[in-house]
Amino acid sequence: QAKKLRNSHAVFSEDLQKKSDERAVMESELRGAIDNGELYMVYQPQVEAVTGKVSGVEALLRWNNPLLGLVPPDRFIPVAEDCGLINPIGNLVVDTALKEIAGIHGDYERLRLSINVSVQQLVHGGFRDYIKQKCADYDLPNSLIKIEITESLFIEDFWQIENLLKLLSGDGFSISLDDFGTGYSSLSVLRKLPINEVKIDKSFVQDILSDPHDRALIKSIISIGQSLEIPTLAEGVEDIDQALLLRQYGCNLFQGYLFAKPMKLEDLKIYLQGFEPY
Ligand code: C2E
Ligand code: CA
Ligand code: CA
Ligand code: CA
Repeated sequence: QAKKLRNSHAVFSEDLQKKSDERAVMESELRGAIDNGELYMVYQPQVEAVTGKVSGVEALLRWNNPLLGLVPPDRFIPVAEDCGLINPIGNLVVDTALKEIAGIHGDYERLRLSINVSVQQLVHGGFRDYIKQKCADYDLPNSLIKIEITESLFIEDFWQIENLLKLLSGDGFSISLDDFGTGYSSLSVLRKLPINEVKIDKSFVQDILSDPHDRALIKSIISIGQSLEIPTLAEGVEDIDQALLLRQYGCNLFQGYLFAKPMKLEDLKIYLQGFEPY
């Protein structure tokens, strides 16, 4: 018995060791990723529920590393946040996405761009100036940019975040509340902060056809949105029946594999050709 315990302990610490090694490798590789051009953006269309028109795209970051392969952002963003790399990486996201979308702005004047911003990046003094400057440099109206933030993260610094979001809102940017319904959602956030869109997390959308509780939840999120005049966007829509039900409930925008997967700019251009320009 004692031996067994010792062994399981050994396996356990080996496991931990492996995890921390992986993280150390990831951190050191991430340090070189910007300079080596390993980071790039993909774009996923957001579609109007009623007309089926493409209203905008969400920029999503990708990291392709020679040693680690394609690392999902869910894994490397938290590492970047921990080791002080989120600001340079976040700036790269803003710069690249604005530049690329500015390149097709002439053909799609009303195409909007959603950008994920981590709270650390947001409260970092330079963010607001940086994004305003880039909009000016690339000649993109601020009103085309949606800044996606995740509300579970701003339990601390609420006052500071509230202030910043109000300033950004005053600059003409839209604010989108990501992953709504997960974490420590509180309805007062919708009232206190200048929120222009609520994104219903894909974990609720996934089971909307089979789970009456998720259905009830989504229905009430949409109706709260309607009463506060905040449009709702459902993410992770994979199935036409999900889309039909969400539209029946009054959801305004859809994003998900049913319409398109995230794609590089070149493929986005081809995708958009299938749609009438605004
Ligand atoms: P998110 O902001 O909630 O993004 C939605 C995620 O759902 C994306 O994963 C997207 O590819 C995926 N998705 C879209 N449609 C479907 C669908 O129909 N089915 C399923 N199963 N998944 C779908 P991705 O690109 O792996 O990003 C994961 C998370 O990483 C994002 O979640 C976001 O929190 C973070 N992230 C991505 N890019 C950035 C970035 O530039 N900056 C920051 N701070 N975070 C980012
Ligand atoms: Ca997002
Ligand atoms: Ca989400
Ligand atoms: Ca997220």
